[in-house]
Formats: sequence, structure tokens, C-alpha cells
Amino acid sequence: MTFNKNLQNIKTYEAGKPIELVVREFGIEPKDIVKLASNENPYGCSPKVQNAVSNIVQNMALYPDDSMIKLKNGLSSRFEVKDENIIIGSGSDQVIEFLIHAKADSNSKILINSMTFAMYEIYAKHVGAEIIRTSTQRHDLDEFYDIYKKEKPEIIFLCTPNNPTGDAIDSKELFDFVKKIDSDTMVVVDGAYMEYAKAKDSSKEIVVKELIEQFSNVIYLGTFSKAYGLGGMRIGYGVANEKIIKELYKLRPPFNITTLSLEAASVALSDEEFVKKSITLNFEQMKRYEEFAKEQKIDIINSYTNFVTLCLNNNQSSTKISNSLLQKGMIVRDLSGYGMNAIRVTVGTDKQNSHFFKLVVQFL
Ligand SMILES: *Cc1c(COP(=O)(O)O)cnc(C)c1O
Repeated sequence: MTFNKNLQNIKTYEAGKPIELVVREFGIEPKDIVKLASNENPYGCSPKVQNAVSNIVQNMALYPDDSMIKLKNGLSSRFEVKDENIIIGSGSDQVIEFLIHAKADSNSKILINSMTFAMYEIYAKHVGAEIIRTSTQRHDLDEFYDIYKKEKPEIIFLCTPNNPTGDAIDSKELFDFVKKIDSDTMVVVDGAYMEYAKAKDSSKEIVVKELIEQFSNVIYLGTFSKAYGLGGMRIGYGVANEKIIKELYKLRPPFNITTLSLEAASVALSDEEFVKKSITLNFEQMKRYEEFAKEQKIDIINSYTNFVTLCLNNNQSSTKISNSLLQKGMIVRDLSGYGMNAIRVTVGTDKQNSHFFKLVVQFL
């Protein structure tokens, strides 16, 4: 059978290995497995979410509220925008899918950073669009601009903080860059880790209201999967000018978010204390990684997120070390697929991190 030829050169996205797989492959007990591979919140989610969700499990026969009014109200007051500026997706992943389908086709070009979130390329290939990458590990907005002038891409992705490197773009630089971009080019600002970045350094904070009020061609993406601890609920959002949101709505399947996820996200959004506490603990624990890297003479990229990227020395292989850790029940992300001899490790709890350090020292 032949399939859509756009699919021919797509490599299936490799999600962080689930705990279930390590149980099956290595016969390790789930309680002995530590997953530091997908940047989930190691402290779980707000206890208020668990209460709220258990109250509504009795009511699962009915379709969800497809207007998503409660969550939209929560988000619009958080960002000081209107409900019409918001679309909610099954993860911000789904919003990425919508916006690429809305803006690009097989004649389009999409500009992304040399190393960045893998889903941009996968969805670009769905529509047969051409991916153009910059050359440097960090977002170099001068290079982005040079390529933009030459290639006239339909979409530009800026991921700040960036996954899988953890570095972030200066907010002022980002605004100055967008000012120079033609209003028919869509600029996507993916802020999946913004809650962490703005807590660490306010010059990295992208104020969403200002962004979308100044620029009708920008969409900001956020997610409940990281700081809010709701990775399993699959819920994220896009904020943009209502004309963009209206187009994206044409691609949205009805009831794309479950009743449970909507309730969980609404309640999570209202418990700022929980998020604040997770972020404080995250950066406390991150210091231990910085010290560990120094002791072991491994390079670590200054991170504005809840993960660290450890760039290994030439005589250490990221694939070997991550496989060895996996056999001991420690799941981390090997970045060799990104052309980096590096591993990406989610900053876990105190105990999880100590376990990681111990296993790495054993390996080295
Ligand atoms: C995790 C992540 C997302 C999306 O996560 P969802 O779970 O689909 O909301 C988007 N962009 C980046 C850079 C991420 O790391």
C-alpha cells in the first residue's frame, strides 16, 4: 500500500521511555525506576487538582463543555487577554499541529533553531513544508533574521526556554526581532518552560499580553505538562490575535479536551502556591547538578527550565551512559539524535537526584 508521500521521511517521535517499558525490558520493579526523561514535575501536581478530579469522575458519561469556558476564563485573566485570544489543545503539541496546518503547505518554509523541540519538524513534514535550521546551538536572532530575509519562511519558531538545551532568549531581544518581521509571517513563541525562566531571571519573561497586543502575527504557546505537573492530562494552549485563533479553530476536532483535563487544568492554574514551591525546589536541586558537573568536569548548559543538559567529554558516549543508566532503572534522555554528545536530565527530587549522581559516578 502506498501512503501520503509526505510521511515517507518522518522518523516517529521518540517519547521519553515510559516506566512500563523498563519494567518489561529489564524486569525492574516500578518502585526502583526513576524517570528523569520528559521534564515532568517530580513533585506531582497540586493536591487541589486531585480532589477536584475525584469529585467529577462520577460524571463521565457526558461530553465535556466544548466551550471550555472555565479554563478559558482562568487563562484569559491570568494573561489579561480575552477568551477569544485563546485556543486549548491536547497538549500544546496539538496547537503546534493546528498552526502548521493553518499556515503552511508543501510550498512553505519553516524556520527553526538548529537544535530544538522535535515536533516542529514532524508536523512540518505532515504538510510537506521545508524545514530550515539555523547553525548555532543557541537562538541567534541575527542569524534568524538573515535567513528570514533570504528565505521568507511562512512560520518562525522561537522556543524559549529552548528544549533540549535549557537556554532562554532575552525578552527585549525577542520583541526587537519580531518588530522586524513582516506581519504575514507567523512567529511562534513556545513558552513551555516559561514559568521556570521568569522565576530565575525576569529579563527572560515574555509578557504575553504585550506580545499579542503589539503583534498580530505572533502566537504564544504554554502547557500544563511541565510546571503544573499535568503531563498525563494532555493539556496546553495558544494565545494570539483572535484572527489567528479563529483559523486554528477550523482545524480543532470537537471535544479535544476531556472533562477531567479541563477541570484539572482550571484548578492547577488557581493554585499558584504549588507551582511557586515546585519552582523554588527545582532551582535548589539544580544547584546540585551544577556542582556535580563541576566536580566531574562535565559541561552543563545554564538552564532556565526544570532540566539540565550535560555535555559529555569526547571519551564519554551519551548513548553508552544513558543505556547503562537505563539498565539500572534510571531513565534520562540521550541527545545523540540531536547530534550532541549530551544527556538531558529532568531535575528530580532530592532523593532522585542523589540516585542519579551515584549511578553516573559508578559508570564513570
Ligand atoms: C513539553 C513541550 C511542549 C508540549 O508539551 P505538551 O505536553 O504537548 O503540552 C511544547 N514545547 C516544548 C519545547 C516542550 O518541551
